[in-house]
Amino acid sequence: MHRLVPFTIRLIDREQEDCALQPVRLKLDPGSKTTGVALVRESQEVDVDTGEVQRSAHVLFLAELVHRGHAIRDALRQRAAFRRRRRGANLRHRQPRFDNRTRRNGWLPPSLQHRVDTIMSWVRRLCHWVPVSELSQELVRFDTQALQNPEISGIEYQQGELQGYEVREYLLEKWGRKCAYCGAENVPLEIDHIHPRSKGGSDRVSNLTLACRPCNQRKGNLPVEHFLAKHPERIRKILAQAKAPLRDAAAVNSTRWALYQRLKAMSLDVEVASGGRTKYNRHRLQVPKKHCLDAACVGHVDVIQNWQQPVLSIQSAGRGSYQRTRLTKHGFPRGYLTRSKSAFGFQTGDLVRAVVTTGKKAGTYLGRVAIRAIGSFNIQSATGLVQGIHHRFCTRIQRADGYGYSWTRIAI
Ligand SMILES: [Zn+2]
Repeated sequence: MHRLVPFTIRLIDREQEDCALQPVRLKLDPGSKTTGVALVRESQEVDVDTGEVQRSAHVLFLAELVHRGHAIRDALRQRAAFRRRRRGANLRHRQPRFDNRTRRNGWLPPSLQHRVDTIMSWVRRLCHWVPVSELSQELVRFDTQALQNPEISGIEYQQGELQGYEVREYLLEKWGRKCAYCGAENVPLEIDHIHPRSKGGSDRVSNLTLACRPCNQRKGNLPVEHFLAKHPERIRKILAQAKAPLRDAAAVNSTRWALYQRLKAMSLDVEVASGGRTKYNRHRLQVPKKHCLDAACVGHVDVIQNWQQPVLSIQSAGRGSYQRTRLTKHGFPRGYLTRSKSAFGFQTGDLVRAVVTTGKKAGTYLGRVAIRAIGSFNIQSATGLVQGIHHRFCTRIQRADGYGYSWTRIAI
């Protein structure tokens, strides 16, 4: 056994020469809060009659990497605010310095850089444990190539089911995921023709917008000028936005692009795909919406097997803090942490098993430990937090590595 979480074994009875490896593909769906990770074994079947290649993916492992970009951002903001207060309290006002800061090319804010770094660290780990031969990544929300110059040609020129998904993703991005008429968010949105089809409106993407169901039904086949007769400002905005094509850059997220550059540097084949294709695959294969399953649906997949399995949730927890002083919310010292990060051979974040034989807390607990210098620890187990477990009951199973682990099931 090499590692407990995620469970990894090392086969030692194989010879290097006669060892045939299965082609394993690592698939990623990077998101802002959660990144889906899927390891799949791929097989291809060629239809003898038609010559078509059918690619099936057999899911081996599913994980969701939960980022802590917001925690990093909050910590930096708080630090800046405390520093502001300290400076402001003792100094006369001075003009801020001007235009004397530079950032290297490709700089990302720390909260976004963390996303790229943690994903890369997991890609490297998985490549180390599993014979990964290829990578797949969702790079863009929609494929402008598939749309073929979206604002010029119309959907009637782009036959095929996939194109509908690309158009949908394109519209979601362009109209900011809200109803163009009433601004409703987080409701199911429908594609609406600004100039109605029955009145000669075209299917061009520049004539399409998104509307919530009530608006879409109330509008019916009215031209937008009649429907919003009482809101001339809104009509002007909608018509202006409809004409302006969404620039390519808006579809490409800087983090995903930075990740792609790092993956390319790994000397493995990287397949990139659009979110439109992922959604299309997910609907066609009838797979529920979940980050890790989205990852499994990235790119060219015809059949997906064995996806009903537990998902490892990997929570980015950090490796502790350099700061040794706890502060109140106003930035005044509240308490001090010990200089050493470990106590009695344990560190916060270690995976431990505690077997308590006597007392009120008798029982066996397995989970992530939080240490105290006095030797009374807290254990975050799958069932909840257990407080005040003495260190002599604990055995370390796995060292802290900056992540918290738990298993979840896919609700079907
Ligand atoms: Zn609406």
